[in-house]
Amino acid sequence: MVTRDTVLGSSCETCRRPTAACVCDRIVSYPTDRRIVILQHPQEQDALLGSAQILVASLPKAKLVVGLSWRGLAHALHEEDVDVRKWAVLFPDRESAGDQVAGRGGVVVEPTALEGVVVLDGTWSKAKTLWWRNPWLSKMNRVTLKPTKPSIYGKLRAEPRRDYVSTLESVAAALTLCGESPEIEAGLSRVFRTLVQRVRDADIPPAARRLPRATRPPRS
Ligand SMILES: [Zn+2]
Repeated sequence: MVTRDTVLGSSCETCRRPTAACVCDRIVSYPTDRRIVILQHPQEQDALLGSAQILVASLPKAKLVVGLSWRGLAHALHEEDVDVRKWAVLFPDRESAGDQVAGRGGVVVEPTALEGVVVLDGTWSKAKTLWWRNPWLSKMNRVTLKPTKPSIYGKLRAEPRRDYVSTLESVAAALTLCGESPEIEAGLSRVFRTLVQRVRDADIPPAARRLPRATRPPRS
């Protein structure tokens, strides 16, 4: 039987990635003023090139929530005191010029006033699924970004739009937009670049980059 282990070798105890694609040795902790909430599509959990886990390991104020739908931000966070007006969701908007935060009715919100950012993690189609299944998201302030360079993913992960970047890259850029130190964006991008390089060097066949959960060996 072909298992994830026979294809990819041993895996790291901390990040559960195959050792060839582990970047735990490069993780640096960056305290931020703002919180980050990553809503992750359940099918994104095993993605070898997934970047959410790097964010959670690097940002003490980042939280990963896996699921498909929630009643609202407070529900997703399991917290009662959440002032959603001080949060924004990171999601593309064709109408927006980018690198800004728009409130309801198109009012421009000062990015530095935000206390937290919500991001949807998954491929573009899975992110859209999360968007449509959680109508409360479209009522939040919205952060849109104008990527200046193509994603670090390169050809490893094809996305339908050139300006579609990884969760890590968009969160890193949003933090800078909100006034956090640009060092954080640079540092996070460095770790992500290492991940992509290691996956590329390991020459892992595309089919093995994401194996269905059922083929996983039982964890001891
Ligand atoms: Zn690791």
